[in-house]
Amino acid sequence: MNIHEYQAKQLFAQFGIPVPKGKDVRTPLGAEKWSTTLDSPVYVVKAQIHAGGRGKAGGVKLTKDRAEVPGLARDLLGKTLVTHQTGPKGRKVRRLLIEEGAAIAKELYLSLLVDRDSGWPVFIASTEGGMEIEEVAATTPEKVLKEPIDPAVGYQSYNGRKLAFGLGLPTLEPAVLNPFISMLGNLYRLFMEKNASLVEINPLVITQDKLLIALDGKVSFDDNGLFKHPDVQAFRDLHEEEPLEIEATNNSLNYVKLEGNIGCMVNGAGLAMATMDIIQYAGGRPANFLDVGGGASAEQVKNAFRILLSDANVKAVLINIFGGILRCDTLATGVVAAARDLNIQVPIVVRMEGTNVELGRKILTDSGFNFTVADDMRDAADKVVRLAVQQ
Ligand code: ADP
Ligand code: MG
Repeated sequence: MNIHEYQAKQLFAQFGIPVPKGKDVRTPLGAEKWSTTLDSPVYVVKAQIHAGGRGKAGGVKLTKDRAEVPGLARDLLGKTLVTHQTGPKGRKVRRLLIEEGAAIAKELYLSLLVDRDSGWPVFIASTEGGMEIEEVAATTPEKVLKEPIDPAVGYQSYNGRKLAFGLGLPTLEPAVLNPFISMLGNLYRLFMEKNASLVEINPLVITQDKLLIALDGKVSFDDNGLFKHPDVQAFRDLHEEEPLEIEATNNSLNYVKLEGNIGCMVNGAGLAMATMDIIQYAGGRPANFLDVGGGASAEQVKNAFRILLSDANVKAVLINIFGGILRCDTLATGVVAAARDLNIQVPIVVRMEGTNVELGRKILTDSGFNFTVADDMRDAADKVVRLAVQQ
C-alpha cells in the first residue's frame, strides 16, 4: 500500500524526522486559512497524488506572496495531473499540502528499501537529490551509495557515518553530520516498526540555515503487515487505487489489471504467471493477472468472473485450472452459474486438469453454453488468442 506525501510527513514527524510545517487541505478556503498560520518567506502548494514527478508536471507551486495561495490551490484542485509516473491517464488532484518553503542549499537523495538479493534493508543515498534515482544510477552509477543493514544487528551509527562520508557531508556541511546519522536511525525504526517496504526522501535538503529537512516523502507498506497497523490502514486512499483491484481484495482474490484483451481466470499464482506467459507466446496479451486461490468456492469463481468482465477490454476469457483443493466440478458449476447470471457474451476457453476433471467437463458441455474446451495449455492459449482476434 502506498500513502500520500502529507501522510508520509506525519509519520516522519512521529519518528523525529524533520519536515516543513504544513497541512493537507481540500479547498482553496482551507489553503487560505492554513497559509495565514504559516510565517514563511515562501509558501508551497503541492498536489497530493500517489505519484512522483509532480514538480516537473506543474504540481508543485511556490510563491512569496501569501495572497496567491488560494488561487494556486484553485488551479490545482480538480486538475488531472500527468507525470511520468501516472501513465497517460493521469491522476485527479483532490487534496493539497500547503507548507513552508525551505531555503535550499543542497538537495540529497535518501531511501531505505528491501534489497531483493540479500533480503536485508538497504539505505540508498546520493548527492544528486531532486532527480530520478533510476536516471542517476543509469548515467552516473558511482554517485549512488548503498549501505545494507543486517537486521539481526539493526542500524548502527557507523552505517550512517559510512554514508555521510561517502556523500562528502563533512566538507559539504559539517553541521548536518550528526543530525544525518540520527535521522537514518529514525528512518530505520519507522521502516521496521511499520512494516514498510520503501521509504524515500527525494529531496532531503540541507537548508541555508544548515538544517536537514525531508522536503518530499514516499512510503510503501507490505500489505501482509497492514493488519498490525490500524494507523497505517487509516491512511489508505481508495481514490488512488484501481476500482476493480479494490473489489477483488474485498473478495479475497488476487487481481492485477493489465493492458491486454484476454481475461485470465487461474488458480495459483505460479499457474497464473505461466498462463500469462503462454498467452504472450501465442501472440496475445493478458488483460489481467487473477489468482482465485487454491480453495475457491463456486461463489468466489462467480465474483472473479464479474470482476474480470467489468474490464471492457476483455474480448475472450481463458480459464486455466488445476483441480486440487478447488475441484474441477466446483469450478465448472461456478463458471456455468456465472455465465447464466452475468449473461456472458465473450467466448470462453477452458483448460482443466485434476480432481473430478471428467465431471467438470460434463457440467460444461451439458450447460448449453458454447464453451471451448482445450486439451492442454498450449492448445488453450492458441484457441483463446484466435477467438479474441475474431471479436
Ligand atoms: P516530486 O518528487 O513529485 O516532483 P517534490 O516534493 O520532490 O515532488 O517537489 C519537487 C521539487 O520542488 C523539489 O525537488 C524541491 O526543489 C521543490 N520543493 C518541494 N517542496 C518544497 C518546499 N517545501 N520548499 C522549497 N522547495 C520545495
Ligand atoms: Mg520528490
